[in-house]
Amino acid sequence: MKKGVAKRTPTIWKARQFCLSCGKCCQNTEMILLSSDISKLRRLGFRFADFAVFDGRYYRLKNVDGRCFFYDSENGKCRIYDFRPLGCSMYPIVYDVSLRRLVVDDECPLAGETLKEELIRARKYLKIILNELRIR
Ligand code: SF4
Repeated sequence: MKKGVAKRTPTIWKARQFCLSCGKCCQNTEMILLSSDISKLRRLGFRFADFAVFDGRYYRLKNVDGRCFFYDSENGKCRIYDFRPLGCSMYPIVYDVSLRRLVVDDECPLAGETLKEELIRARKYLKIILNELRIR
């Protein structure tokens, strides 16, 4: 794929309109970056050292002043929404590396309203995540 051209992140939530745009999920993010997320963001021209941090096992989104590097605090929005990491698109469903399964993050004010079909839809992406994180 040509430099500067990137594939949009798939939309996981089709069941209902869910987000309050409160930005909580972008505060002190611990979002794991897949290699496909990283190559996409680099293809868009972002410097790896600016947006990623290594935790000794995984690369994660970097926080700046307590918020994700890509968070625009002026308008409270994600600067790369259409190309955000897959994990961000699945939120508040997240892959818990210690439990080795999908969980719903109760940091999200609407976590309790997560629907069964959304969990089923998210499971479709679990294989991609496990493959890319080389988790067997
Ligand atoms: S990439 Fe976008 S949606 Fe994901 S944590 Fe950062 S600002 Fe939020």
